[in-house]
Amino acid sequence: MNQSSLQVPAFSLILLIGVSGAGKSTFARRHFLPTEVISSDHCRALITDNENDQSATGDAFELLHWLAAKRLQRRRLTVIDATNVQADARQSLIDLGQQFNCPLVAIVLDMPEQVLNDRRKTRTDRSFADPVLHRQRRDLWLWTRYLEYEGFSTVYRLKSADEVDQIQVVRQS
Ligand code: GDP
Ligand code: MG
Repeated sequence: MNQSSLQVPAFSLILLIGVSGAGKSTFARRHFLPTEVISSDHCRALITDNENDQSATGDAFELLHWLAAKRLQRRRLTVIDATNVQADARQSLIDLGQQFNCPLVAIVLDMPEQVLNDRRKTRTDRSFADPVLHRQRRDLWLWTRYLEYEGFSTVYRLKSADEVDQIQVVRQS
């Protein structure tokens, strides 16, 4: 299999960007230590025992930022597993990275709508053919076109499940 490598600085703040079901948490599990990944769903669960409890979103992001800051202070590579689809959702994380002179990396999981719909059909916890998905994908397209100008030093955009399968993350010291 042809593997392409995705280079990241050994100390970096990596934002995974993608709609719900794009494969962010799967990607994070595969390429990073569990302790390197801060997930908004996990932060919600730490507060309410329920990762889908939207009422805890504000507190969850406060916790996520706090944890990220503590790690960056110690120059630990940190991965943010949240949708990060809209520019204003990314801004405070970009500010945090800059505050700690930490290179910012964006990994966009831009999966075709067909793939997302097929995955959703196999899930039992949500209804399939969700029209929300179409809007999320449009948001992704609208709001992630200028990532380099937002302050990311490196931007990777993966556009198919095959491409994601073949990726190897390489840390540069
Ligand atoms: P997230 O919402 O972006 O965190 O997406 P998840 O990582 O939870 O993945 C959503 C669904 O897609 C899960 O059922 C995964 O098993 C599946 N999935 C994620 N990545 C891949 C992949 O690369 N290949 C395949 N076949 N399925 C995947
Ligand atoms: Mg997830």
